[in-house]
Amino acid sequence: MKIVMLGAPGAGKGTQAKRIAAQYKIPHISTGDIFRANIKNNTELGKKAKAYMDQGLLVPDELTVDLVMDRLAQEDCADGYILDGFPRTIPQAEALDRALSAKGEQLDRAVDVDVPDDSIVNRMSGRRACQGCGATYHIQFNPSQKGEFCQVCGEKLILREDDKPETVQKRLSVYHEQTQPLIDFYAGKGILRTVDGTKEMDQVFEEIRKVLEAE
Ligand code: AMP
Repeated sequence: MKIVMLGAPGAGKGTQAKRIAAQYKIPHISTGDIFRANIKNNTELGKKAKAYMDQGLLVPDELTVDLVMDRLAQEDCADGYILDGFPRTIPQAEALDRALSAKGEQLDRAVDVDVPDDSIVNRMSGRRACQGCGATYHIQFNPSQKGEFCQVCGEKLILREDDKPETVQKRLSVYHEQTQPLIDFYAGKGILRTVDGTKEMDQVFEEIRKVLEAE
């Protein structure tokens, strides 16, 4: 199954994407995670990406598309994958389409996790990320069992630079301008399914499972 997760930053699509990946035993491919790993390892790509990410801007398509295409060419993607945070622009979606068509493949579903802007701002300020392994939490909706420390690796949790309120506003306007058009793009292809992302995490997960398993 080849799935794209759509939704505003902070809609909870990352958390859901990880669960879906585990459920269907397919790789979870998050461009945000790939960029953050590059930043942590101080690579050339990381240095370039950080400048955009810290301002709430998108990393340019030319740095993003090839990276994803290389990842999708790896063996573990043969039976499907879930893309989280990619595509984020129409040119990215078109590049993905072209790459899939060239192999006679297509996406099965695009799942939009729908959450209104005011809830997003409230949610993002409560997000915490692990500096060590990248696990994400929410102080209200999904707290770490170890408080301010990661329940996976024990490292200290932080509020990411790009989750700070002023950056969140910027990321939301970038989302509406550049990413939201993908909803119509995938609706036009008949593969869009929308779930209500304001519900409890488990309920959202069940809704996603239903839309993935329905014909
Ligand atoms: P995320 O963790 O998906 O919210 O991504 C964090 C940041 O990484 C975004 O705000 C962008 O700056 C950058 N990013 C992630 N995925 C993409 C993408 N597909 N295209 C451009 N920038 C991206």
